[in-house]
Amino acid sequence: MNHRELFFRHLAQTSAEPLAWEIRKAEGAYLWDAAGNAYLDLIGGISVCHVGHRHPRVMQAIAAQADQYLHVMVYGELIQSPQVQYAELLTRHLPASLHQVYFTNSGAEAVEGAMKLAKRYTGRPHIFCFHQSYHGSTQGALSLLGDEYWRQAYRPLLPGVYRFIYNDDEVIDHINHQTACVILETIQAEAGVVVPDKSWMQALAARCRQTGTLLVLDEVQCGFGRNGTLWAFEQFGVIPDILVLGKALGGGLPLGAFIASREIMQSLTHDPVLGHITTFGGHPLCCAAGKAAMEVLLEEQLCEQVYEKEKLFRQLLEHLPCREIRSRGLMIAIEFDSFEMNKQIIHRCWKKGVFMDWYLFAPHCMRIAPPLIITEQQIQQACTVIDESVHEVLKHQKSS
Ligand code: PMP
Repeated sequence: MNHRELFFRHLAQTSAEPLAWEIRKAEGAYLWDAAGNAYLDLIGGISVCHVGHRHPRVMQAIAAQADQYLHVMVYGELIQSPQVQYAELLTRHLPASLHQVYFTNSGAEAVEGAMKLAKRYTGRPHIFCFHQSYHGSTQGALSLLGDEYWRQAYRPLLPGVYRFIYNDDEVIDHINHQTACVILETIQAEAGVVVPDKSWMQALAARCRQTGTLLVLDEVQCGFGRNGTLWAFEQFGVIPDILVLGKALGGGLPLGAFIASREIMQSLTHDPVLGHITTFGGHPLCCAAGKAAMEVLLEEQLCEQVYEKEKLFRQLLEHLPCREIRSRGLMIAIEFDSFEMNKQIIHRCWKKGVFMDWYLFAPHCMRIAPPLIITEQQIQQACTVIDESVHEVLKHQKSS
């Protein structure tokens, strides 16, 4: 039986139409399939591969750690140098109040941890979240998810969750002394790149402060330089009480984190002790890879190049016949009339060796969120292919 048959027979499927390409290799901004076709990767494993696939520094760090030890003990008991060194590096680049890191396996687990921590620290029952938000697919994170289509089949969900319109003042009036936390993406990704107003974010943070409600910012997708600053919250003049990270945090290996002050984090240590338990969270290999990736990000000044690269994408796509292009840094959404049209364009791009997809809550929007190492020449190549594909689909529509 070939790999394709085995894939459909023995791997749990989550869609009737998975891509089902066999990947043979990935390096830098490219993927290669089993037939040897190269694809310029415009989504980087969905905002994971900021420093590209298999960056040599990341590979070296993985090899060096594999030489020492892999899993040795559940999270939080033994001192493991990759964990402490990475936590120190992260907190050195965060505001002073965000100085304790809890490493998890994934973004969703970090969201679960943040929700538990907020309830435990405040002793309050309610969590506020937003329409069109994505925070993960586990039962708790799913309860926050901002689209009824994905929630409805899995009821009963978490009680005490209230949902509001993103970037709308209504939420601010509702936050009160029963609200444990407000959780939101600093910039909404799966909604198709939605950037809130700075004044709204600041009013939200002020109301949280006033009521002792924790502000939880999910930067699983928008953190780590994708939006042009190391952390997206820097652009809004606010500091979260809990920061949630994932995706690029592990440099291509699975890693998430929730980060808060020592005072808040301390509440996981008593009543009950071991307030959040994870066997593999903060795996030494993942922390070693993540730390190396972050060092590359900082040393190669990838963040600093993001706005120039965004500008080039926008210049080259300026005349594209589409509804709108939204972007913040290297998170770009090209909005078309329908999902069908977007899909046809994307399929043509794939055939021409450029890989991208769409946003979960905005399937009519093309997702462009490439590795931050993408070069000027690769951006030009990508935009030429997108431009050609859009015109081919439009021509085909007219003639049929
Ligand atoms: N938050 C955001 C903003 C995300 O985009 C995602 C993943 N797409 C998650 C949380 C969940 O991360 P994971 O898939 O690692 O559980």
